[in-house]
Amino acid sequence: MAANILDGKAISAELKVKVAERVAALKARGVTPGLAVILVGNDPASEIYVRNKGKGCEETGMLSRTVRMDADTTQEALEAEIEKLNEDPDIHGILVQLPLPKHLNEQAALSRILPEKDVDGFHLMNVGRLAAGAEGVVPCTPKGALYMLQSAGIELAGKEAVVIGRSNIVGKPMAMLLLQQNCTVTVCHSKTKNLKEHTRQADILVSAVGKPHFVTADMVKPGAVVVDVGINRVDGKVIGDVDFEQVKEIAGWITPVPGGVGRMTIAMLLSNTADAAERTLNRE
Ligand code: NDP
Repeated sequence: MAANILDGKAISAELKVKVAERVAALKARGVTPGLAVILVGNDPASEIYVRNKGKGCEETGMLSRTVRMDADTTQEALEAEIEKLNEDPDIHGILVQLPLPKHLNEQAALSRILPEKDVDGFHLMNVGRLAAGAEGVVPCTPKGALYMLQSAGIELAGKEAVVIGRSNIVGKPMAMLLLQQNCTVTVCHSKTKNLKEHTRQADILVSAVGKPHFVTADMVKPGAVVVDVGINRVDGKVIGDVDFEQVKEIAGWITPVPGGVGRMTIAMLLSNTADAAERTLNRE
């Protein structure tokens, strides 16, 4: 029997409605949540993401600001721009669009963002909070993926979860979140031996690798929940890491690409920005 689809389009639309309600409530109390995106250079994929973030702000009633900087901008100039936004009371969330040009130090730049305005959750303070199970800002993509599972009512406690990929933006925080949900978590990576032996044990299988058709049906336990984070461009089409057509015949639940986790990322970014604005108000 074919798997149930975890519909990112529907779930993200629903989340955005909830964010819009929170934005309206904040506005009624005199605060308009503001998100600033710093874009260095003009990478075409980054341009699309930044445009979509602006669109998301508009849809939910937030203030959106894009700071454009030349590709040859210096580290000092970038960090000075971040400082200005740190001090700006109209801005509650700051995001530096990645990747940055090679000559810039990404971690140093991200560490200049005030942790409470770090709506991507990449500041080491927030990374540490997540690892310690303390309250902090959680990266949008893994948080969005978890939200999809929860909104479908998928039971997580006690389940075997396997995450393929250990990047700081997806794999590691995803593993932390699943651990917090009481899954037994295995993290696989490029040096993992006998990958299939691990993945076939997974009740929840998350792929964040960035290789098209990397996860095939023989790697999946029948009835498993398969979350495809991968975004790969092949012949002008966007496809995931999972061989969707094959795997959907064996999985219990599956996220499509496009229309899956990718849709959740921006919705979660808006939600993190609303959280940041609410925190400001509560502090006052
Ligand atoms: P990275 O390239 O940073 O990480 C890829 C991970 O995959 C690494 O940990 C790597 O292992 C692992 N890997 C590579 N080859 C293998 C292999 N043969 N077997 C097992 N593991 C392997 O990518 P990201 O985490 O940034 O992104 C992953 C994917 O998710 C990409 O397609 C990206 O476009 C997509 N993405 C989607 C988002 C969304 O909104 N849906 C947001 C962010 C990313 P090692 O550490 O050993 O090198």
